Amino acid sequence: MSADTAKIMDGKAISQEIQTELASETSQFTQETGVTPCLAAVLVGADAASEVYVRNKQRACERVGLSSQLHKLPADTSQKTLLDLITELNNDPLVHGILVQLPLPAGLDSTQILDSINPEKDVDAFHPENVGLISQGRPRFLPCTPHGVQQILDRCGIELSGKHVVIVGRSEIVGKPMAMLLVNRDSTRGPQAANATVTICHSRTTDLAAITQTADVLIAAIGKAKFITADMVKPGAAVVDVGINRTAEGLVGDVDFDDVSTVAQHITPVPGGVGPLTVTMLMHNTLTAARIQTSNAAVE
Ligand code: NAP
Repeated sequence: MSADTAKIMDGKAISQEIQTELASETSQFTQETGVTPCLAAVLVGADAASEVYVRNKQRACERVGLSSQLHKLPADTSQKTLLDLITELNNDPLVHGILVQLPLPAGLDSTQILDSINPEKDVDAFHPENVGLISQGRPRFLPCTPHGVQQILDRCGIELSGKHVVIVGRSEIVGKPMAMLLVNRDSTRGPQAANATVTICHSRTTDLAAITQTADVLIAAIGKAKFITADMVKPGAAVVDVGINRTAEGLVGDVDFDDVSTVAQHITPVPGGVGPLTVTMLMHNTLTAARIQTSNAAVE
């Protein structure tokens, strides 16, 4: 297979497609219920990258027809002040989703903060209750980045059922939940986008290349620039690059794009691959949260 045969999986275009669908679903929901789904973002400190991420999320809310709030706190905010704000947002019926932008400044216990979010408002799907539901194959919310990867693959026509998927990376945010979504029996896109045979690799994996070479679909979530090279990829595989690495040559992924394009059949670029989907799937979860809370309120 030559370099020009690797088809680019265009995350930006897919993200726009999903946002258009979400805008229409949100508009219908608001017309039927009178409720505008609202995402409250909490930003502690002045980390430049975090400010950009939060701004992007607010803009995406506007595009989809959701409302958003930004709660900006100084870097020296105490654990108690932050917990009090979460309690306030948990109790606010006008707020449906709560997002605490990570990383939090040193000294704050992010596990305690994330665990304090009402699981029905936990649109990042980090709360242990939501992780448990995902692992049992009955998710309330889907983790944004893994769900985005699943959307890209399915919308590019790549069937996962019965395929060998190798994930490099076992983080709680990407690698592990990614494996759970793909090994489940069904998905938001149907069973063809799940039911995979999944292998998870990490830094202690012996002979990594021998395993990645057996992947029909290879997902890289490592955090090391251009780590995956052509010799690690099976000819004809689909390669998804979750990595975002800031280097002297700009933003690059965990996959050596030019090299791997010579053997892969499908590949995501960085930027313009998985990144845009993460924000979009957060919008999807905020709408889901509003649906859940509105139907609960109707029953009470
Ligand atoms: P992380 O928590 O640092 O996890 C990295 C994983 O890679 C770990 O499981 C680690 O293994 C594994 N690893 C590191 N070196 C390895 C090696 N030499 N061989 C095999 N495995 C190795 O990172 P993360 O939060 O999952 O993020 C991964 C990347 O995705 C980062 O570049 C991040 O910026 C990016 N990201 C992008 C998005 C998006 O929206 N596109 C969202 C989230 C993250 P150990 O567990 O053994 O240490």
